[in-house]
Amino acid sequence: MIAQLSDLIWPPRSLLSDAIVDRPGVIEPALWGDLHFLGDPLCAQCGFPLPDDPGPGGVCGACAGHKPAYDTARAALAYDDHSRRLILDLKRGGRRDGLPVFARWMASAAGESLARADFLAPAPMHWTRLAVRSFNQAAWLTQALARASGKPWKPGALVRAKRRRSQEGLSASERRRNVGGAIRASGRFKGKVVLVVDDVFTTGATLEACARALRKAGAAEVHAVTLARVVRPLDISI
Ligand SMILES: [Zn+2]
Repeated sequence: MIAQLSDLIWPPRSLLSDAIVDRPGVIEPALWGDLHFLGDPLCAQCGFPLPDDPGPGGVCGACAGHKPAYDTARAALAYDDHSRRLILDLKRGGRRDGLPVFARWMASAAGESLARADFLAPAPMHWTRLAVRSFNQAAWLTQALARASGKPWKPGALVRAKRRRSQEGLSASERRRNVGGAIRASGRFKGKVVLVVDDVFTTGATLEACARALRKAGAAEVHAVTLARVVRPLDISI
């Protein structure tokens, strides 16, 4: 009722432009081609797009050198100017009308790991940042994916232990130090298969910390899915 009323006052706008669309949470067909959806061949573990098919279970150089704590990470979109707009609208603008669409994209990217999951868990945000910004985009994405898939979600399964600097503008090694030890699991998850949900996979440091915490709490498998993923090293400054 409220949504219908607001539509009369403010007609729904495309997620990617100022074009007026027939219902909330859609993108006009002309802009669909601008979105870069990620697909095979991908690193079997971190989901990094590979130039050639590495064969079953083949991993990228980074995962071969340092095996991540999560079993798999997948993302719906490459992080670029178009997906950045979607994420910034969600993260800073609090725009929620795209969530059902994002959930479908993430469900498709997660595939088998979503089917196997006992529950979904949002990557945590520290409460002081949550208080300042007043919304948590990872929790919104998790809730939307739970709705789309019928899987349960646990909003408090992962928590941030200490205030850390914002990840913005940090290098990969600085990000690892910034996040290391800051995330812990709240509860015991013995033998569980957990799918962690976040907005962007940048260096993987946050998801690495989430996976370590969940394994410490007894999780048998930890998978991750994000709306977007950095696919070039120069994109990490967000
Ligand atoms: Zn990899």
